[in-house]
Amino acid sequence: MEQTVAPVEMKKRKDIAFYNYEYTTLDQVKISPLDRGYYFGDGVYEVTKVHNGKCFALSYHLDRLYRSLRLMKIPATIAPDELTELHDVLVEESGVQNGSVYLQITRGTAPRVHDFPEGITPNILMYVNEDNPHKAELAKNGAHVITIDDIRWQHCDVKSLNLIPNVLGAEKARQKKCAEAFQFRGDELMEGTSSNVFMVRDGILWTRPADDLILKGITRQLIITKVAPSCGITVIERKIDREYLAKAEEVFYTSTTAGIIPVLKIDKETVGDGTIGPVTKALQERYAGLMAEGLP
Ligand code: PMP
Repeated sequence: MEQTVAPVEMKKRKDIAFYNYEYTTLDQVKISPLDRGYYFGDGVYEVTKVHNGKCFALSYHLDRLYRSLRLMKIPATIAPDELTELHDVLVEESGVQNGSVYLQITRGTAPRVHDFPEGITPNILMYVNEDNPHKAELAKNGAHVITIDDIRWQHCDVKSLNLIPNVLGAEKARQKKCAEAFQFRGDELMEGTSSNVFMVRDGILWTRPADDLILKGITRQLIITKVAPSCGITVIERKIDREYLAKAEEVFYTSTTAGIIPVLKIDKETVGDGTIGPVTKALQERYAGLMAEGLP
């Protein structure tokens, strides 16, 4: 690692950004039209929660980032400890208390050919977002969702910039005044457009196994390994079909920026008794506790 991180010489600014080893502001970042992220979506990204001015579960996000880079055959030109420091500096300098850090790495800048151009360097972009209050409302009051066909590729485990099917699905949900769209391959529930899905039946938590057809969400992982066990709730990773989902007592979806969002209606059908259930509430409370404790 020959490059070093430039010192920060800026006052606290929410719009602070880091691009290719320079700190600047978002509106000053200059990205070439020949960035492969721009014309091919040839890159990967991560979004890490900022809670009370600190990154939450950053090491989990960085593990997933390096896996995404490996699967996309993008060279890792920056070390995890450097990225950790950059996250901390950006959060501190932005003054943002509750939000998220967006990190994007594209393969690099070169004239447009499909195969990998030789000798290009990945472009690294980072900035901080504040929480969207709408998500806190959804977590408190519950959400309605629709179901759609999953038309994505076979490597949804990679957090790639190619998100067109997710974008189209999210827009379809918005047009139906719903908060999320659950994607199905045939009869099988996969995940939301930007979230993983859980259901409760007989007091047990069910979620689809994380293979290469869904993103292994960090929130999902934390619920399975930490939150549910500490609530005494059993989790089973198993494929879920439409019939099984229709019998759910409770359903919720999870993501870094939204946390745990209770689902009250799926395609206008009421889930359970139409209220936020006790398992979802217990998990929300414990997850909030875990965030307050902090996690590296
Ligand atoms: N699935 C998809 C397709 C997503 O975009 C996201 C959001 N990153 C998730 C699941 C949830 O993952 P995480 O809990 O790591 O935010």
